[in-house]
Amino acid sequence: MPELFRAAKIAPMTPGWPLYEDAAVVVHDQAILDVGSFDHMRRKYEGPVRDLGDVTLAPATFNSHTHLEMTHLLGKTAPGQGFVPWVKSLLAQNAYGVDEPLVRSELLRLEQKGCAFLADISTRNAPLLAEVLASSGLYFTAFSEAIGTPSQVDAGPLLVQSRSVAESGRGACAVAGHALYSTSAELMRAVKALDAAHNLPFSLHLAEHADEDAILLTGKSPFLDLLRSRGFITDYDAPGQRPIPLAAGLGLLDAATLCVHCVTITDADIVMLAQSRATVCLCPRSNEFIGVGQAPLRALLEAGVNLCLGTDGLCSNFDLDPFAELSWLAQRNPGVMSLCQGLALITENPARFFGPLVPGVDRLGSLEPGKAARFSVVPQTVLEAFTDAD
Ligand SMILES: [Zn+2]
Repeated sequence: MPELFRAAKIAPMTPGWPLYEDAAVVVHDQAILDVGSFDHMRRKYEGPVRDLGDVTLAPATFNSHTHLEMTHLLGKTAPGQGFVPWVKSLLAQNAYGVDEPLVRSELLRLEQKGCAFLADISTRNAPLLAEVLASSGLYFTAFSEAIGTPSQVDAGPLLVQSRSVAESGRGACAVAGHALYSTSAELMRAVKALDAAHNLPFSLHLAEHADEDAILLTGKSPFLDLLRSRGFITDYDAPGQRPIPLAAGLGLLDAATLCVHCVTITDADIVMLAQSRATVCLCPRSNEFIGVGQAPLRALLEAGVNLCLGTDGLCSNFDLDPFAELSWLAQRNPGVMSLCQGLALITENPARFFGPLVPGVDRLGSLEPGKAARFSVVPQTVLEAFTDAD
């Protein structure tokens, strides 16, 4: 028998649908049967009513970028001093010594906060993280990260083959590039081609900080010196281009690419990103934590770029909750987004990107008939952050 979930407000996040007041979502067999005003749903369906009270109900949320293998680094890295001091503090730790029980408890906590999807990037522990995600209740993409400049490029072995991921029906393994200075152009292209051949999403850190621009443009930067001194990069020829035009020229930007950060971008870069139909994942609290500046939110929105939010790892943030990321962003950009525009960054927009590429994810992102019955209750801090815009 259908069950009616009644709430003071419901944001279905379906284009063209209103934010309903005194509304209900009708659920049957863990799927959404209908949504609309409570009176209308009550007349249409028999079944028990669960009154959630004075809350705003939204689709379950997406965290589109994180590094679970660094969960144990919470509070152990250097905040606010820029990228090089932050990386130094990271390298002083056992950065890749994944704490599996801690990761599992974080995932459980996320689910309890109404998160249903997580895109994770793992450099050293991709097979383990894929298993952990497959056995969680979350939908997911488990990226393994290609990093370095091998002389012979074979991206194939980087794609994790996992039976439990396939059997979960809630996720996929894919391969990501690290960044344009740390992953060779050949390897980036090979990874992108591999993901494309399997209809998988591709992701890379792009235009995150000023040192990245300097390395790509001139080959001179304290960060490059650090990477050389630690043996991460041996020889390096600067391509002489800024990150976005370089990525575009390498054929990395299209509708199946997730560009993470996009902080140091120009107006021309934004036009290029919009034309490429790539999705941009902002990580505003991570950018603040490291001290690299902020992406131009208003300009990206006005250009029509598909935007979503990620927390990045706990090596550069305080929690993995998409709602906390959204309320931080909205508080610092008063009046720039409506509540529904903001919620789209953690529901509808990432579903538009991941939905066609990752099994099961097309059932998330909005509250409409046929979708999975996965909801979230929008926290008061988020609602208050949008009072100026609404
Ligand atoms: Zn990252």
